[in-house]
Amino acid sequence: MLNTAFKDKTMIQVEALTKHFGTFRAVNGISFNIARGEILGLLGPNGAGKTTTLRMLTGLLKPTSGTIRVADKSIADEALAIKRMMGYLPESAPLYHDLLVFDYLRYVAEIRGLRAEARLDRIRQLADICQIGDVMHKPIGVLSKGYRQRVGLAHAMMSDPQILILDEPTSGLDPNQIVEIRRIIRQIGREKTVVLSTHILPEAEATCDRILIIHQGTIVADGATDQIKRSAAGEHRIHLTLANADPGVVRARLEAIDGVAEAITETPINGTLPVVLVCRGEADLRGSVYREIRQTGWDLLEFYQETQTLETIFRKLTRED
Ligand code: ATP
Repeated sequence: MLNTAFKDKTMIQVEALTKHFGTFRAVNGISFNIARGEILGLLGPNGAGKTTTLRMLTGLLKPTSGTIRVADKSIADEALAIKRMMGYLPESAPLYHDLLVFDYLRYVAEIRGLRAEARLDRIRQLADICQIGDVMHKPIGVLSKGYRQRVGLAHAMMSDPQILILDEPTSGLDPNQIVEIRRIIRQIGREKTVVLSTHILPEAEATCDRILIIHQGTIVADGATDQIKRSAAGEHRIHLTLANADPGVVRARLEAIDGVAEAITETPINGTLPVVLVCRGEADLRGSVYREIRQTGWDLLEFYQETQTLETIFRKLTRED
């Protein structure tokens, strides 16, 4: 049967994925798709099931039930082909501390099956992408955690995989190193599909196109950060300040917009009229509101959307039951 999801941009399709460890259910029937070229963040508190999910995506851990398809191949049937499409950076990358970075990467190139004459070029490219050129001749053991992480990233990218799976790529790094790794991930994400896990909110917000919030093995939110903020809040508000506008007409015209539950006009201040629009649903209504205002003779002095911070939403969604 033709799977329409793969005709467009779906790279990974996960359905009803579950993992039990004994009687403990670490991942509980989660389903999601990842588009080609998307940077997806799995965000969740410690123990939420992020690493378990990533390890199942890479084929390292067998699901208890559920399916994973990558580029329309089933991981159950074609695990090896799928593994070849992926690079994986585990939470603590198992690097050989005594080896020089260059020797280590040459070894990785060899075991990844790169042709001998292509190895040096690839190592040079990765040194450039991951900014490790200046430590190539140092032993891995003396590198800072940030550099070690970048060497791990170079390892994961050696065979130019279409998909990169990164488990807590910035954990334990200092703020400068974090900025640098995020920059590298965003750069990689222009061409590759990237799935990363983190329990750090600003990380997910700064690096990812889309976030899945995972809590106790289930997905409690899925979307772009703006979308999550709007949907988790249940309602959101748009604030306006107008002039040359009659409160009654303002209420009538703005409440007629689909999705606006209520237009609250406040007491005019020096001839200006503060208005709060209470909006229901996930849709972003700013365009419709602006188009409506443009058709009137009102002066628009202020216009902004109020949203909850991701942090408030994250806490609300991942509170212990
Ligand atoms: P962290 O941010 O702390 O790495 P996580 O979201 O990655 O957390 P997982 O490592 O996926 O969480 O673990 C999810 C749950 O499954 C945890 O309660 C963990 O103790 C449990 N778990 C993970 N691996 C095993 C295992 N091999 N055997 C038993 N329980 C396990």
